[in-house]
Amino acid sequence: MGNVLDNSVKYVSGVGEARAKLLEKELGIITIGDLLRHYPFRYIDRTKIYRIAEVGEQMGSSLVQIRARVTGVAYAGTGRKQRFTAYVSDSSGSAELTWFQGIKWIEKSVEVGREYLIFGRPMFYRGELRMAHPELDLVEKAASRKFHSGMQGIYPSTEKIASALGAKGFYKIICNAWSVAEEYINEYMPQWVRSAYDLMPLREAIYNIHFPQSAEKLHAAERRLKFDEFLGVQLAIQSRRTERMTRKDGFMFPKVGELFNSFFNERLPFSLTSAQKRVIKEIRQDTVSGFQMNRLLQGDVGSGKTMVALMSMLLAVDNGYQACMMAPTEILARQHFATISRQTEGMNLRVAILTGASKAAERRKALEGIASGEIDILIGTHALIEDSVQFVNLGFVVIDEQHRFGVEQRARLWTKNQQPPHILVMTATPIPRTLAMTLYGDLDVSVIDELPPGRQPIRTFHYTDAARLKLWGFLRQQIAEGRQVYVVYPLIKESESMDYKDLEDGFESIIRDFPLPDYRVSVCHGKMKPQDKEESMRQFKEHEADILVATSVIEVGVDVPNATVMVIESAERFGLSQLHQLRGRVGRGGGQSYCILMSGEKLSREARQRLQAMCQTTDGFRLAELDMKLRGAGDINGTQQSGMAFDLKIANPTLDSVLLQSAREAAITILEQDAKLEKNENYALRLLRARHAGGQRYDFSMIS
Ligand code: ADP
Ligand code: MG
Repeated sequence: MGNVLDNSVKYVSGVGEARAKLLEKELGIITIGDLLRHYPFRYIDRTKIYRIAEVGEQMGSSLVQIRARVTGVAYAGTGRKQRFTAYVSDSSGSAELTWFQGIKWIEKSVEVGREYLIFGRPMFYRGELRMAHPELDLVEKAASRKFHSGMQGIYPSTEKIASALGAKGFYKIICNAWSVAEEYINEYMPQWVRSAYDLMPLREAIYNIHFPQSAEKLHAAERRLKFDEFLGVQLAIQSRRTERMTRKDGFMFPKVGELFNSFFNERLPFSLTSAQKRVIKEIRQDTVSGFQMNRLLQGDVGSGKTMVALMSMLLAVDNGYQACMMAPTEILARQHFATISRQTEGMNLRVAILTGASKAAERRKALEGIASGEIDILIGTHALIEDSVQFVNLGFVVIDEQHRFGVEQRARLWTKNQQPPHILVMTATPIPRTLAMTLYGDLDVSVIDELPPGRQPIRTFHYTDAARLKLWGFLRQQIAEGRQVYVVYPLIKESESMDYKDLEDGFESIIRDFPLPDYRVSVCHGKMKPQDKEESMRQFKEHEADILVATSVIEVGVDVPNATVMVIESAERFGLSQLHQLRGRVGRGGGQSYCILMSGEKLSREARQRLQAMCQTTDGFRLAELDMKLRGAGDINGTQQSGMAFDLKIANPTLDSVLLQSAREAAITILEQDAKLEKNENYALRLLRARHAGGQRYDFSMIS
């Protein structure tokens, strides 16, 4: 049951083998169907024709179209510096068009005295309009040419693809893909859903998203395609929830036992905030309900989530179960292990650690202890989900800073048990309500909305390089007061191979140039050996170093209360939530803390807004919402950056929250009638759900 939509994009005319490879590598586009689901993020209006005098500098650099007659041509330069200019005018004014390449070809197609439609990016020289390498069409020819639409889509692309396909490349191959695949796009949405929510038919929607026939049709097309995405996600979420609620197989923790009580009464280093108490109570209620708990704990950085995790794990152990806690990085896992070991020292509790970097002895101890039931709490990284880790009776799982973990990984933990353990997912990245509902709708949500007492809000400043001396002075003063300082450098894609030589040289030069010669500096970045990283962190933690120079490896969770200054270099290169996370590394003790955002003078508008927002508020929730707005739906990396587990290309939970609500309602109704989506007519919805449940690719051929 082949379908053209599932064929490789290489068969689309204008693509071919090499470009197909590039499309897959750069944008994950493999099939013709994928190509048709690559939607424009903006459109340019090809029906609008400007008079030359109307085109002004205030229009910025957006593409415009004029209609003008060629009045003369000129050649200048020789060889590689050759240049061809055409002078054009209409009744309102004149302009100059210039070509630096392809001159042989263009000089043949430009005829003095004839009228052309000219399309390009306006530039101005002494007030006169100029365009370099515009598109040119004879007016008569343009009139006879059939376009799908007056609005031409501009597609998300990458540098490599743009140079392989040319400026209008995406548009052309989409046109070609459409003409071969059009008749294979079949509707799969049940009729009643389409009429209840007034949805445009699928084929028409895909046509109009690429070739809008009018503004209204474009809007309806967007609405339909967004609805589909939300519906897929909601079907996945609601099914999971229904499934969980029909299996009454949660472990029971009826007892508040010796460990929990003695910890609470004798060892707790501070009194719990009322928010912490409330969350612990919610977890207690979940764990005696008979249902499996699946809870998301949101609490801003520094709100004390670790303590909630520890006390919950003690509860599990009191009831005869093992518990584990998974952290996103080696550093963080080691830190949790150290903190928890220290806090529970001398108690009848065995805690072990397992990470990818564990040496043979540590590894053996953890694996054997876990398998024999001797170890109560295992702390670690991804290594915990390896097959070799066999718990006897895993009853409680904590996942710290979940935005780094995918849904699939969560599911793998479940399968370690016949009976699924209770799961507590903790995150400091505040998730706006609407987003939480879309992405984590299968979780119950707890919130710690209160910081431990005595915390002073962190003061945040934005400096440019010109203020560097002032910065050094400030750091000197803080260190003299016995405080410690983080200096963080951006390294966006830690995992990808890049020139680490450069990075390390960079570090060395900072250390060399740092005009604070008497201070002790530790260095920590992702490319260092785990034991070296750990040693750096230890030095800083134990105040053997005053300054920690690091990359964003320290972004999550690291806890050194004596550190009061966070300097973020090239702050414009970080996203808002990352900046907020980094800032959360200070302000953890009692002292006044500071965050200094360093940047160059020149900033994009968005970067400036981000830095301003950071200076204005420390409220993580507000920042998260702003972040979503700033990024918008057009950002193809958005989902990646925010760690959203679901594949949303066009729908934006923040901006389209009404539609999200409708999709949720529809999903619930659909599942009420056919809980497992087993009916024939719901076959395609089952695939839509599978696609959004994570992992599985959506296959058009299965839909017909
Ligand atoms: P996060 O929620 O960011 O994971 P942590 O659990 O690391 O925060 O806690 C931040 C700091 O606050 C730690 O040093 C911790 O010991 C301390 N802390 C946690 N709860 C309280 C409390 N109720 N009172 C005082 N300090 C607390
Ligand atoms: Mg934490």
